Amino acid sequence: MDLFHDMAGMGHERVVYCSNPDVGLRAIIAIHSTVLGPGLGGVRMWPYANTDEALNDVLRLSRGMTYKAAAAGLTLGGAKAVILGDSKTDKSEALLRCFGQYVESLGGDYITAEDVGTNVRDMETILAETRWVTGVSDAMGGSGDPSPVTAFGVLQGMKAAAEVAYGDASLTGKCVAIQGLGNVDLHLATYLIQDEGAKVLGADLYPQAIERAREAGVEIVSIDEILAAPCDVVAPCALGATLNQRSIPQLKCRIVAGAANNQLEDEERDGGELHARGILYAPDFVGNAGGLINVYNELMPSYNRDRAMRMARAIFDKMMRVFEISQADAVPTHVAAERMAQERIQAMKGLRPKHWGRLIADGR
Ligand code: NAD
Repeated sequence: MDLFHDMAGMGHERVVYCSNPDVGLRAIIAIHSTVLGPGLGGVRMWPYANTDEALNDVLRLSRGMTYKAAAAGLTLGGAKAVILGDSKTDKSEALLRCFGQYVESLGGDYITAEDVGTNVRDMETILAETRWVTGVSDAMGGSGDPSPVTAFGVLQGMKAAAEVAYGDASLTGKCVAIQGLGNVDLHLATYLIQDEGAKVLGADLYPQAIERAREAGVEIVSIDEILAAPCDVVAPCALGATLNQRSIPQLKCRIVAGAANNQLEDEERDGGELHARGILYAPDFVGNAGGLINVYNELMPSYNRDRAMRMARAIFDKMMRVFEISQADAVPTHVAAERMAQERIQAMKGLRPKHWGRLIADGR
């Protein structure tokens, strides 16, 4: 892998390799863009097969964060970090604090958060070494569980899609099939049933998740049937890459709008296929920005859940803008969403604001 070639091709500003054999730390921090603000993105701990695999992941994920923040209208750039190792066996206080020292050394250009393999307690350990960390518990002055905000944002994206597909943003009487009934998904189901008066079908692998959802009023179907269920909206909320050559021909919905990251297995192929079939796809990184919006609010002098929810409500307008661009430029919605994000970054490129001070509380 030629790192300089990849950085230039994908537009990365900085890639930092972090190594401390004494504590077993091997990590890579990729700052994709600080044009709009500091690069915020989670730290993933994963047993990558080799360094190239880790590098590939962090380069791709950090670029995705730039688009997500830009599309959400946040004063944030995009970045991500990966720690090479097994989170169940290799994680230690020393390793996390060492990682925190590397984050601190970047002076706020990178702000970390939890991701796969890291959790709220890990963020609190990192907090001992740097204040450039989000996603700590509310007891520690953080924002706590982001799921309700993420779910509320996904709902806004879904309502925007309904406005375009049916001429009415209301989901009353509509049928929504949710794949996955985890944290975000259960909140989404509850908003849909209680606030919108929608009918919700759902599927999950775990009996506990299924039971909780059933109690919330979700009609359970099998995991093999959920994407093919006759309904108005399919909400992929479990894993990435569920929209692919196998699943798309089975869809019987008018709208796809869910919480999962990277829903399209192959962006060009599968985004194009949905468009060609007249299925309105609400791009994932626009709709699921509520989690990022939530931790972004943690950077302000005091976290306020109402403010985070108000900001998540604006996902409706962002999604409408995506659909407008898609129609005007005759391109699939995932292309339109990237255009919307890129337009904002391009417009700000010459400015380079470097004083994050007013955004970020001075200490906690
Ligand atoms: P979660 O892990 O709590 O829930 C995911 C659920 O999907 C689990 O219950 C799991 O059993 C189920 N699942 C896995 N494979 C499945 C399959 N094949 N069919 C049906 N169910 C399956 O995660 P979450 O926090 O609720 O997040 C949901 C999705 O949204 C994830 O993809 C996550 O990456 C994404 N997301 C979450 C946030 C957030 O704020 N938590 C923010 C942005 C994006």
